[in-house]
Amino acid sequence: MTFDDEAATAHPGVRMLLLGRQGAGKGTQATRLAQLCGVPHISTGDMLRAAVRDGTPLGLRAKQIMDAGDLVPDEVMVGIVDDRLHLPDADRGWILDGFPRTVGQAVALADITARRPLDVVVDLVVDNAVVIERISTRRTCDGCGTVYRADDAAIADGTCAKCGGTPRQRDDDQPEAISRRLVLYERETAPLVDHYRDVGLLETVDGLGTEDEVFARLLAVVDARTTTPS
Ligand code: ADP
Repeated sequence: MTFDDEAATAHPGVRMLLLGRQGAGKGTQATRLAQLCGVPHISTGDMLRAAVRDGTPLGLRAKQIMDAGDLVPDEVMVGIVDDRLHLPDADRGWILDGFPRTVGQAVALADITARRPLDVVVDLVVDNAVVIERISTRRTCDGCGTVYRADDAAIADGTCAKCGGTPRQRDDDQPEAISRRLVLYERETAPLVDHYRDVGLLETVDGLGTEDEVFARLLAVVDARTTTPS
């Protein structure tokens, strides 16, 4: 049995959403948790950036919207996520990061997942001042999407330690686009926190601290929601 198989056995599949401001650490934590639970980490931002890199029709349409810090229209996003959640690797579950981002998307997701509903929604909480600092110092590899801090020794020579690509500041991580995205988060996405609290699915996790500390907190709430009490 490989490590991944063992981990997946210890942690049953999970269907969950990660909410939280830009820079809260959703991508980092979701990647780790997805590996441990043996389910795909589905980041709509990563999917859109891949489409932009590949120059697909979706990528061409999304690029300007993303660079300005705006939101891609709901009907486009819903179609992408609906298709993705029906791929075979999503059978045991999935971790959605970056979707839903609007009430319209949340309503559509409830339809898509009607037969196999969500186990938990985690709000990863980090306040504005901290996320602004994190976003302005983050660098994203243009090859594999790995996120680094600007002062990380692993990219001191200007190349990504994982794939040899070039870590850059995302266009939407420039100050103007950051403020726009944070305003949109408060207006469009923050109301989802109340919505999921009302339906009893919400868990709140403090996103401050080391990556390991945050991961331990996240794992505790996910385990509590997915382990059948004996
Ligand atoms: P962040 O969480 O740091 O804003 P993401 O990587 O999740 O970054 O998303 C980057 C951009 O991709 C968003 O600013 C938006 O333009 C677009 N995007 C991603 N997911 C969605 C979504 N669910 N609905 C609309 N636009 C989206």
